[in-house]
Amino acid sequence: MSLLDIHVLGSPILRQDTTRVEHITPELRRLVDDMFETMEVAKGVGLAAPQVGRSERLCVVDADDTRLVVINPEIVHKEGGIVRGEEGCLSIPEVYADVDRYARVTVRAQDIDGTWYEIEQAANLLGRCLQHEIDHLHGRLFTDRLSLLKRRAAMKEWDYEKTKYPKTLRVLPVGDLPPEKDATKAAASTDAARP
Ligand code: ZN
Repeated sequence: MSLLDIHVLGSPILRQDTTRVEHITPELRRLVDDMFETMEVAKGVGLAAPQVGRSERLCVVDADDTRLVVINPEIVHKEGGIVRGEEGCLSIPEVYADVDRYARVTVRAQDIDGTWYEIEQAANLLGRCLQHEIDHLHGRLFTDRLSLLKRRAAMKEWDYEKTKYPKTLRVLPVGDLPPEKDATKAAASTDAARP
């Protein structure tokens, strides 16, 4: 397995729609393994293909003790009204904001063997994370869902943070072992746990 570089806000691929996965190839399985490893080292709870510079419609999630490969996902049901919760994103490091999401979603997707499955009524961090990652698969970032004022504040923080990533790439330190899982930290946000 190897760590992948994470594309940060400003990289065009984050704004592109993805392409449905038609065949599960050995190369795709390797990509999924690498995405899990990258997500763990970056201390995220979700990672979508465009964040590692890929255009396949897939993401990986590890939230609320649920570890999922999510290929060609669709939200088939939304319920429970809107809830507000803090989110971060591995592609917008150090920027956090409250985002409105559906309280519960049912998602239909394929696993790494191509088998269709449904995650029913995903709520809390898992539900929020799935909505955040599926947004990524359609070129949407959590900052797009903020009010104008909150988006301005987030972008102001990002103006400072982005100077750390001159090539819009976030290179993770090589040789780091995946950290211990910390559920309390992960509960604070979506892609990225607040340090
Ligand atoms: Zn994200």
